[in-house]
Amino acid sequence: MEPVYDDNNVFAKILRGEIPCRKVYEDDYALAFHDINPRAPVHVLVIPKGKYVNMIDFHRRASDEEIAGFFRAVGRTAAELGLEARGYRFLANNGADANQEVGHFHVHIFGGAPLGAMIGRVRGEG
Ligand code: AMP
Repeated sequence: MEPVYDDNNVFAKILRGEIPCRKVYEDDYALAFHDINPRAPVHVLVIPKGKYVNMIDFHRRASDEEIAGFFRAVGRTAAELGLEARGYRFLANNGADANQEVGHFHVHIFGGAPLGAMIGRVRGEG
C-alpha cells in the first residue's frame, strides 16, 4: 500500500463523527476505541488525529509533538483499560506484507488474557 491518504477510510469517518465507535480514550493527538471484530478479550485501536496512512507515512511527515503525543496516548489507553498489571501487546500493520486493511495509521492493543507467541512462524518466499 503506497502511503496516499484516502479521506473516505473508515477511521477518517469515525474521527469526523460520521460513524460511531465505542470510545475508550481521547486527547489532542489520538482517539482510542474498541475493535469491531475483537481478537482478544481486550482489543482496542488507537489512531492519531492527523491524516497518516501508516507508520511509513507517520514517521516521515508527523511532527515530533504528534509522534510523542500519539505514543503517550497508546500507553494511557492501556492504563485506562486496566492492562498494566498483567501486561498487554501492541502492534501496527503497515502495508501489504502486514495485511493492513484500513489506510489510517492505527495501533492495536491486545490484552485481558495470556497472548501466546508474538507471531506465528513465517516462511520467506525465497
Ligand atoms: P488492520 O488489518 O491492521 O488494518 O486492522 C483494521 C482493524 O480495523 C481490524 O481489526 C478491524 O476489525 C477493525 N475495524 C474495521 N472497521 C471498524 C470499525 N468501524 N470500528 C472498529 N474497528 C473496525
